[in-house]
Amino acid sequence: MFNKITDKINSSFKKLRGNSVISSSNVEETLKEIRLSLLEADVNYKVVKELIDKIKAKSLGKDVLNSVSPAEQFIKIFNDELTLLLGDKSSDLNIKVKPPAVIMIIGLQGSGKTTTSAKLAKYLKDKLKRNPSLVSIDIYRPAAVEQLKILSKQGKITFIDNEEKSDVIKIAKNAYEQSYNIGSDTLIIDTAGRLQIDNQMIEELKNIKSSINIHETLLVIDSMIGQEALNVANIFNKEIGIDGLVLTKLDGDARGGAALSAKYITDRPIKFYGSGESLDTIEVFHPERMASRILGMGDVVSLVEKASESVSTEDAKKLSKKLKNNNFTLNDFKSAISSMNKIGSLKNTISMIPGMGKLSQDENAMNKANDELKKTVAIINSMTPLERENHTILDGSRRRRIASGSGTAVQDINSLIKKFLQMKKMSKNMGSFKKNPKNILNF
Ligand code: GDP
Repeated sequence: MFNKITDKINSSFKKLRGNSVISSSNVEETLKEIRLSLLEADVNYKVVKELIDKIKAKSLGKDVLNSVSPAEQFIKIFNDELTLLLGDKSSDLNIKVKPPAVIMIIGLQGSGKTTTSAKLAKYLKDKLKRNPSLVSIDIYRPAAVEQLKILSKQGKITFIDNEEKSDVIKIAKNAYEQSYNIGSDTLIIDTAGRLQIDNQMIEELKNIKSSINIHETLLVIDSMIGQEALNVANIFNKEIGIDGLVLTKLDGDARGGAALSAKYITDRPIKFYGSGESLDTIEVFHPERMASRILGMGDVVSLVEKASESVSTEDAKKLSKKLKNNNFTLNDFKSAISSMNKIGSLKNTISMIPGMGKLSQDENAMNKANDELKKTVAIINSMTPLERENHTILDGSRRRRIASGSGTAVQDINSLIKKFLQMKKMSKNMGSFKKNPKNILNF
């Protein structure tokens, strides 16, 4: 799924990676390549234009975070915009109603309606612990009714059979009554499709909607069809009204464009996607997960998220000013260390930094460094505010008190003060970390 887009976008990112700053020319070049990959993948041109414009504006106007590279920050911006394009947050089904909730599945013939109806019922039963039932109102193709019956049996879902064979409204009403009587809390109605939209189909669906209370109308879209499927979606939406989309066949080698444009073009949330023929291949559509899957850069995105959560650019500026002016105190030392802890365990943080994976594999060094960080914070916590602001008053008796308060030894206090003084000195030469990453362990 989306393999081609992912490969192409990744190779564009690679070119950006060597750069230490994001300049308008290297962003321009990267975006041009990405634009082309998206168009080749059949993403709607309006969608591509808006996405590229937004990423460009954000990446050029952004303060660069100290702890990540410009390329990583660019990937994060791309990821955020892609997530918004895909719908931002996942959308629930409107089924918290007086039972039975009624879900109507509509779409063109062959889009995957019947399979999706059965998959959805199985999902509701297994994952949401509901008691669904299924009915087919396809009076034109007896084989379609039979297919749903077989799938219901496979998924151990109640299938509602009907005496009525010609009046779709009657069939739907009967099914509603039956599902109520057997205590089913969700009725899924599989409707008839056509090879293309026609008036009779639209009228039939409108009639059903006005005759029984449908809580959720889901349109099934075959993602292999591409852009054309979205025009069809817009007609369905205008004529009948849809609450959400289900994209099927995302496991195929479709170029993926329809899936990326679907939310934008139809202004309806993608609620589920299908990725196979068997009944358990239906997934809730999570825009953020899908975006990072498409970019194939999940770990970079979470690194930038954690870094921006913990060390704001403002904080980083304040700290570097203090270091420069030589009024960096033990309090600042502690908050610098705590922000490292906030970024995650040292090992996780280091392993996410490209090129430093090997260092993070050194279990011993990592465990030692993590323990040291924890100990340092405990020691500083045992100091009085005055001591934290002015380390020079830390005489022998104060050091003994702090050691017993923090469960450490006086030697530990001495060595911490030594490291603190070293760090003050090191701050004059901030380049040392870049020259030798191992210096991060030398606090
Ligand atoms: P309907 O005419 O809209 O009811 O479509 P069907 O449910 O009969 O599906 C048409 C074909 O698509 C069947 O062969 C299904 O097995 C297949 N299909 C449906 N959903 C998926 C999917 O997510 N992935 C794959 N690979 N095949 C699917």
